[in-house]
Amino acid sequence: MNLLIIGAPGAGKGTMSELILDKFNLVHVSTGDMLRAAVKNGTPVGLKAQEYMNRGELVPDEVIHDIIVERLSQDDIEQGFLFDGYPRTKNQAVDLDEILKSLNKKIDCVINLNIEDEVLVKRITGRRLCPECGEIYNIYLKPSKKEGICDKCGSELIQRKDDNLESLKVRLSEYHKNTQPVIEYYEKTGIVKHVDATAGVDKVFDEIKTVLEGLC
Ligand code: ADP
Ligand code: ZN
Repeated sequence: MNLLIIGAPGAGKGTMSELILDKFNLVHVSTGDMLRAAVKNGTPVGLKAQEYMNRGELVPDEVIHDIIVERLSQDDIEQGFLFDGYPRTKNQAVDLDEILKSLNKKIDCVINLNIEDEVLVKRITGRRLCPECGEIYNIYLKPSKKEGICDKCGSELIQRKDDNLESLKVRLSEYHKNTQPVIEYYEKTGIVKHVDATAGVDKVFDEIKTVLEGLC
């Protein structure tokens, strides 16, 4: 099973991805994670991507094309994958169709996490991450027991560089302008499932499970 999860920044793609991967045993392909790793390691891709990312803008399609082709050439892809944060433009979606065709693969389902922009501001500006174990907190909605410290492993929590109001505004406008057309693109093939992402984590995941269990 090959899946795609789409949603505005803060809609819960990361959280839901973790749960989906666990339950359905898929490989996670997150362009955001891959780009952040590239920035951290100072690779050529990272150097190209870093400024766009900090501003909240999209990284150019050519850069994304290359990292996706590279990722899809690895063996673990055979077990099925979940794309998270990709494709983010119609151009990337058209490009992906060609790449998948050449590999004799297809997308089985697109999960669209629906949520209003107003809710996202609190989710994003309050978000804190554990760099060691990956646990996600929120100073307003899900604070750690001790401020700034991970409950699970005791590491110091960090904030993503683009999780500020200014970059969020850019990310949201990029989302509406570039990523919503991607949903319309897949809508034509009838594989989009809309999920209400406003509810609590368990409820949202229950809805996703119901959708996916109907597929496999
Ligand atoms: P979010 O959805 O919360 O904004 P991501 O981790 O998916 O976060 O992406 C963070 C940033 O990485 C984006 O704002 C953008 O700069 C870049 N990025 C990630 N995926 C893509 C992509 N498919 N195309 C272009 N830029 C991307
Ligand atoms: Zn931790």
